[in-house]
Amino acid sequence: MENDDVSAWPVEWTEEVNICPLCNSDSVCNHENRLIDWLSVPPSGYWRMNVCGSCGVGYLSLRPAVKYIQNAYKNYYTHSKNKGSLINKYLRGMQKYLYEAFCDHAGHNYTVSGYLVYALVRIVFPLGLYFDTKSRHIFKFRNTGRLLDVGCGNGEFLEMASRHGWEVIGVDFDQAAVSVAKSRGLIILHGGIDVIDSNEKFDFISLNHVIEHVYDPLKLIQSCYALLNDGGTLWLETPNIDSIGYALYKSNWRGLEPPRHIMLFNKAALSEMLLKSGFVSVEQKSHGLSGVYMGLSSEGLLNKTVSCSSMACFGLRKIIMLLRVISLELIQLLCKKRKELLTLVATR
Ligand SMILES: [Zn+2]
Repeated sequence: MENDDVSAWPVEWTEEVNICPLCNSDSVCNHENRLIDWLSVPPSGYWRMNVCGSCGVGYLSLRPAVKYIQNAYKNYYTHSKNKGSLINKYLRGMQKYLYEAFCDHAGHNYTVSGYLVYALVRIVFPLGLYFDTKSRHIFKFRNTGRLLDVGCGNGEFLEMASRHGWEVIGVDFDQAAVSVAKSRGLIILHGGIDVIDSNEKFDFISLNHVIEHVYDPLKLIQSCYALLNDGGTLWLETPNIDSIGYALYKSNWRGLEPPRHIMLFNKAALSEMLLKSGFVSVEQKSHGLSGVYMGLSSEGLLNKTVSCSSMACFGLRKIIMLLRVISLELIQLLCKKRKELLTLVATR
């Protein structure tokens, strides 16, 4: 495809956005004109993104019209069953065992194996940071309470929180994900945050990779604020447009995921939105292994766009790939502003 103007979808299914949806500025400091949706089979046409010259967020300047957005989720994966090779299954099984032992210990269910695993992941600290984030830091804030997960996917997180004494409820737009989560014996509603009764109150709300998917992120944050008790916690995570990964991989960066990611934030813009909505404090957490995950995923996308003519070229590319992924992980561990993912905790 040579033409940047080839739209991935019929024109009437899409809309152009020429001002930043967050700060209304028309200044653009960077743009991507050839974004490919790798989940559409086969990929066809391009999406476009601007980076706002004023607040620095990325927003799709050619995006699906709200009415047609469900077409972008036909091949989505939140409800998929675990697949993969035998070694992948073994690694997943081992990770599950370590994670459950970690949660038991963090949730004050002490066992010998829990002590050993907890000590191990604190020594191998990127793994410890990864488990902290996977458990959405719930053990750090309070022991139990009422918890709402918006965009709960297959309900894995809610099941863990429920096992540790939290009263949990989840919502998700994806009917297949709702069915899988319900099969775990959880209370799950089909839809967005607006299906929750406005009189309900929660101690903890989580938005795990949700805010980048919505058309009106400020409204979502304000709804979370209204549903939280005083002193309650909003936990959210989203790809960071200021990350070193985006600077390195550009249109092949995994965090872009067009056209499902409508807006991509940086720390300053997201923190400001939270404080403007009434939250009294915002804290950034460190995520372990996200450089490895985002690096490997982005390398996978990059490999779809280049080819190697010889084994030597293939070998060299593998070495460069390894160096890039390791660098990404080190930088994201050391530099708060350049992390691959923004993991923020806001207190009402
Ligand atoms: Zn802006």
